[in-house]
Amino acid sequence: MPSLNKLVLDLDTSRLQQKLRAMSKHFGALADELADIEARKCSECGGSNLEVEELVTDNMLLSRSIRCRSCGHEESESFG
Ligand SMILES: [Zn+2]
Repeated sequence: MPSLNKLVLDLDTSRLQQKLRAMSKHFGALADELADIEARKCSECGGSNLEVEELVTDNMLLSRSIRCRSCGHEESESFG
């Protein structure tokens, strides 16, 4: 007689919905961010191999530094 294992997932659906909503909000913003970054090119050599470093608090973008991996050119911008 094989033993039966019962897996019970106790999901608090209201909290799950809140989490999903928070995630979709965050990922929506993130997708916009990524599209924005992906459209960027180095102002020095026009290369698109960029390293982006962002300072973020509570979904607010404070500053962004971009370093070009091709020529090493760096630029940063502040927000808020
Ligand atoms: Zn460059």
